[in-house]
Amino acid sequence: MKNFAINLNFDSLAESYGWPSEFNEDSAYTKGLDRIINLCEKYGIPLTIFVVGRDLENKKNFNILKKISERDNVEIANHSYNHFHNFGALNERETYDEIYKSHKIIHDCTGKECKGFVSPAWAISRNVIKSLIDLNYTYDTSFFRSIFLYPMVAKIFLSQLAAKKYSRAFKIINRRDYFFPFKYKNEPFFLNSDMQMVNKDNKNSILEIPVPVISNFQTPIWNTVGFFFGFEYLKKKLKIILNREKPFYFLIHPADFLDKDDTNPNYLVSLERMNSENFQSKLNKLEDIFKLIISYGYKGKKLIDLAKDEKSK
Ligand SMILES: [Zn+2]
Repeated sequence: MKNFAINLNFDSLAESYGWPSEFNEDSAYTKGLDRIINLCEKYGIPLTIFVVGRDLENKKNFNILKKISERDNVEIANHSYNHFHNFGALNERETYDEIYKSHKIIHDCTGKECKGFVSPAWAISRNVIKSLIDLNYTYDTSFFRSIFLYPMVAKIFLSQLAAKKYSRAFKIINRRDYFFPFKYKNEPFFLNSDMQMVNKDNKNSILEIPVPVISNFQTPIWNTVGFFFGFEYLKKKLKIILNREKPFYFLIHPADFLDKDDTNPNYLVSLERMNSENFQSKLNKLEDIFKLIISYGYKGKKLIDLAKDEKSK
């Protein structure tokens, strides 16, 4: 059986606005989640949601997520507490706290321990890996093994500058992992807390499942690529991944199912695709992608189940 997962990096509007204290009607939660869950349900595809812990300090979000986490076909995973843009540059203590605080508030909300993680902006460091192993995580999806990491980082940097978020912009380029696209493997692999590749039976290790790539010199395959290079291009590339007949995940983002009407006019959003297209049209594009994946004989799973398959191989 060929399996895939949907990996939702659930960056909220509050995060994108820079956490304004008076803002609590976050349509990523109040509108977006229903849209994406309904689409997944239509095709029987489970959803793995990587939550930014700080969003759950908002009681409204907390209650929405609590309800959603009761579903069998939803997995809640960890996307750090503050979504710091310099996450890859934090020291050991700060990194652990960022992961642990989010782990804790998600547990308070859902009653379940997170087993999966993704870093803000795919930042990787030894501190991240060590903290995840210490907290007994099963898998991590922070590896972005492509030279497109650089234009991506540059693009996020420039869009933050354009939105006049200067200190945020400079934090984005402060990371220690610029050589990582050239290290390790494109296929899932196990790392110990010294960042060495180890056997899957090693107790002190974590499973790394990198963002799918065709080669390290091409863009990884995730939904945002469709907005940059066109959805025909994305589908063509996705077919290469599908023809490999191996498990993979498809990465999505709230901007893939929110639009301008969902944003608050009092705050600046630095994502241009938020303004350019309505959510229904974006959902239709995502639906086409789901249909394509299923037409290749793939079946959806939660990421934790893909990870368990990988461990028992
Ligand atoms: Zn994020």
